Amino acid sequence: MLPPIEPYRAIAESAVDPIFVNDPSGCVRYANPAAVKIFGYSEEEFAGACLHDLIHHHRPDGTPYPREACPLYRAYTNGKSVHEIVETFVRKDGSFVTMAASVTPARVEGGQEATVFFMRDVTERIRAQQALAESEQRFRLITNSMPQLVWVMSPDGRINYVNDRFRQYVGPQLDLGENYASPVHPDDQEATHRAVEHALHTGNDFRIEHRGRAADGSYRWFLAHGVPLKDAEGNVLAWYGCSTDIDDIRHAGDALRRSQETVRLAAELTNLGLWEFYTETGELLWDETNRRTYGVPQDRPVNYDLFISCIHPDDRERVDRTARKFTVPGSTGRFFTEYRILRLSDGAERWLKVNGESLVDQDGHTRFVGTTLDITDIKLAEQRIRHASQRDPLTGLPNRALLFEYCEHLLAIAQRTRSSGALLFIDLDRFKPVNDTYGHGVGDQVLKQVAKRLSDCTRQEDIVGRLGGDEFVVALPHPDDVHGPATVARNIVEKLSEPYHIGDLQLHLSPSIGISLYPRHGGDLDALIKCADAAMYEAKKAGRKRYRFYNPAIDQGADQHLQLELRLRDAVERGEFLLLYQPVMDVGSASPSGAEALLRLPMPDGAMLAPAQFLHVAEAAGLINRIGEWVAQEACRQHQQWRQAGLPAINIAINVAPQQFRQRSFIRYLANSLQDSGMDPSCLQIELKESSVLEDVNDTITALEEIRAIGIRVALDDFGVGFSSVRLLSSLPIDALKIDQSFVSRIGHDAKSQVIADTVLALGRTLNLQVVGEGIESEDIFDYLRGHGCNQAQGYYFSGPLTADEFVHWFHAAQPERHAMH
Ligand code: C2E
Ligand code: MG
Ligand code: MG
Repeated sequence: MLPPIEPYRAIAESAVDPIFVNDPSGCVRYANPAAVKIFGYSEEEFAGACLHDLIHHHRPDGTPYPREACPLYRAYTNGKSVHEIVETFVRKDGSFVTMAASVTPARVEGGQEATVFFMRDVTERIRAQQALAESEQRFRLITNSMPQLVWVMSPDGRINYVNDRFRQYVGPQLDLGENYASPVHPDDQEATHRAVEHALHTGNDFRIEHRGRAADGSYRWFLAHGVPLKDAEGNVLAWYGCSTDIDDIRHAGDALRRSQETVRLAAELTNLGLWEFYTETGELLWDETNRRTYGVPQDRPVNYDLFISCIHPDDRERVDRTARKFTVPGSTGRFFTEYRILRLSDGAERWLKVNGESLVDQDGHTRFVGTTLDITDIKLAEQRIRHASQRDPLTGLPNRALLFEYCEHLLAIAQRTRSSGALLFIDLDRFKPVNDTYGHGVGDQVLKQVAKRLSDCTRQEDIVGRLGGDEFVVALPHPDDVHGPATVARNIVEKLSEPYHIGDLQLHLSPSIGISLYPRHGGDLDALIKCADAAMYEAKKAGRKRYRFYNPAIDQGADQHLQLELRLRDAVERGEFLLLYQPVMDVGSASPSGAEALLRLPMPDGAMLAPAQFLHVAEAAGLINRIGEWVAQEACRQHQQWRQAGLPAINIAINVAPQQFRQRSFIRYLANSLQDSGMDPSCLQIELKESSVLEDVNDTITALEEIRAIGIRVALDDFGVGFSSVRLLSSLPIDALKIDQSFVSRIGHDAKSQVIADTVLALGRTLNLQVVGEGIESEDIFDYLRGHGCNQAQGYYFSGPLTADEFVHWFHAAQPERHAMH
């Protein structure tokens, strides 16, 4: 064996890597100890052997490795040098070892040509390289299977790796090593840059949404998520990242946002507040409009208690009750309600309409979602319409319907609070004649003034309404000592009796008031009105211009009243009245000068009612005019019948109710009756109560003048009780005064009455009026009156009222005797 030249031998002997020296034929001339150790052949086995045949004859997969195909073999047989060729060699024991081998031509001792063959064991290195390659391949495989764009980025922002999907998306213009920013949408670059810088600084993950450019130049939205790879000191070595395409989600989000925006705008335009209530947590959410509606500032937390506190006290309990049904966790349903609130910002009362419906989400949580609408304007309009339909158009007072509504409400409260109340039923005295005489225009004006005065006499909480015609009602919900029903009624009587000025007219009316008390007289409005109405009739009967409390005894009276009214109507229809005639004597000649017609109502049971028993009912029932017409007609007819029977043209007096004589229709009727019967108008006398001419003097004078123009005479009846002034009396176109019976009957007993009788007689003389003494029951009285200048006399002393036939007999009987007493 040829040893290498010293000192190379020593180096070769101590080297840890195999070294061979071969001759040009490829046979081993030297193998160092490392080669012996690694390959397992002894020096002797190596010596002279062909190196290729020994350690390189086949590959790890078992296929032969021919010498000609082996670059190493070619190198060391051709005297060429090669470097670091990695080959797999076979040890003596058949195992493989991977070596990096170099071949260098050399000369050995004696100048012979040789090749030096160095080897290094690279098995581990190669294995590591393979593992790395495999892992890289796995990484590629995985990332390429992902739908996301996967990338690796250096800390300075250069893209070092992208997966297929990335490459596909960005297209061929992508170059590795380029800055990540190039495919990012220009508008998103700044935000992206900031996020990446921040992440680099903190060493944390980063997430950013940005648009990325596609191969065709279009953009889509991505969510980029980068995770840092760090060294032992925590420095970022690379970013591993993944970008997810969120374009569809973003657009779905946009659509949702758009639809939310539409809802918000629609709600805002219609002023529709939106709210949500979570039944499990009790959480209440209001949108801006809802807050505005309730007047709750944006920064104030909203909860159920706040909501309830905004509700109007009158509605609060009801709303709370309803709402609590739905606030129970898990409750579902749909509701609709209306209520008032007192707006938190300014305390204004507003009407709200609220709708709500439950929604159950995917997790089974229930919430109510609803709207709030301020409907105050609608409510006000409704109220105005209701007002119009529930008010009496003339007076503006509540009409019957509204009155009932109000009163039912008051009664309900009174029932709850166990309080009392009073109802005043007001009827105007003598209103109908005003209407009939002056027309409805004047009547309406009176009613308006009455309404005004009633409202002035009452308090805010009292209710004044018009039932119709001249009937009014006042309800006093809280009568007390100062404002008791009697006080109010007195006040009303006084106020309504003051003169009414309408144009040039001055009218006098008065009210009659009936009062019923809650709960004493009834529990419902109908009963209370009925009682007050009955009491009102009592007030009328008692002489009007007064008030009466209801008294259960009235009921009986009311029943009689009704019966009488029915009888009167019948009598009017069928002309079933009767006139009696009371003789009137001429004092001077002591002979009959005429008769006063006195009305009677025959009753089915044979009774004969006197005027005092039925005239007030006739008046209240509006029958007085027709009765008066009948009386006038009948008296004229009777007068003519007597003439035909041979009686002289005596005077006949009829009594005329106060409201009658001022009516043109009545005056016309009188004239017609006279004409129809052919009676001499100067034989007819009308008697008016003194009290009835005191009102509306001007009208009275006009009417009297018209009556007298026909030729009819006029007497003032019951004179002396009415306080008419002498001046007034002197201006009245009248013919006679009838001294009131009350004075006449007391002549001789009562000095005052006697003085009055004297005065009337003197007045008659002065004013050139006939004076009639009526109610003469004794000779003394007759003598007294005759002695004091009385012109005519009437009374039981001569005769009571007689039927027409009786009168004829009496007349004939009285004639010859002259002073005959009956
Ligand atoms: P008057 O016009 O003052 O009539 C006289 C009344 O006195 C009559 O009562 C008569 O019966 C009564 N009388 C007559 N002589 C005497 C007497 O000596 N002593 C007493 N105590 N009384 C006597 P009568 O018929 O009940 O009528 C009452 C009133 O009814 C009348 O008072 C009159 O104001 C009214 N009246 C009568 N008839 C009619 C009528 O047809 N129409 C109207 N509107 N009123 C009438
Ligand atoms: Mg009379
Ligand atoms: Mg009289």
